[in-house]
Amino acid sequence: KMANETLKAELGNASWKLFHTILARYPETPTPEQKQHLADYIRSFALVYPCGDCARHFAVLLDKYPPQLSSRKTAALWGCHIHNQVNLRLHKQEYDCSNILEDYDCGCGQDEAEEVQ
Ligand code: FAD
Repeated sequence: KMANETLKAELGNASWKLFHTILARYPETPTPEQKQHLADYIRSFALVYPCGDCARHFAVLLDKYPPQLSSRKTAALWGCHIHNQVNLRLHKQEYDCSNILEDYDCGCGQDEAEEVQ
């Protein structure tokens, strides 16, 4: 069995990948319903995240930095910022958010027009 720290890091890596990719594919001009879906997702993510300490810290960050869901760019930058707050706590390098949308291209651009949210 892998060391706990390695498993925790792998879980974090995979989780952040999905988190940022979802934000980078959020609609450019979301409807109120789409905003609610993302708000619910983020809140639930914090509630169900299986590393208890991580989840507790993340919930505190969410209170301090509420999700900014007015547009794709705003949401993606918010996500980058909150991950940077986690990086700071863990003494990791700050991530450059200036190309956040390009950094998290899901390879599903063709699907976007027919997206059902
Ligand atoms: P990660 O932080 O996992 O990042 C993965 C990749 O994303 C990086 O390689 C980089 O390419 C990119 N990236 C880095 N920063 C950003 C950013 N700001 N925006 C966009 N992309 C970025 N671990 C703990 O030990 N204690 C905790 O309290 C803790 N809390 C966590 C809370 C949450 C909600 C999550 C999802 C994870 C948490 N983790 C925690 C795990 C931790 O954040 C890392 O995922 C883990 O330490 C592995 O780090 P990493 O160096 O591989 O890069």
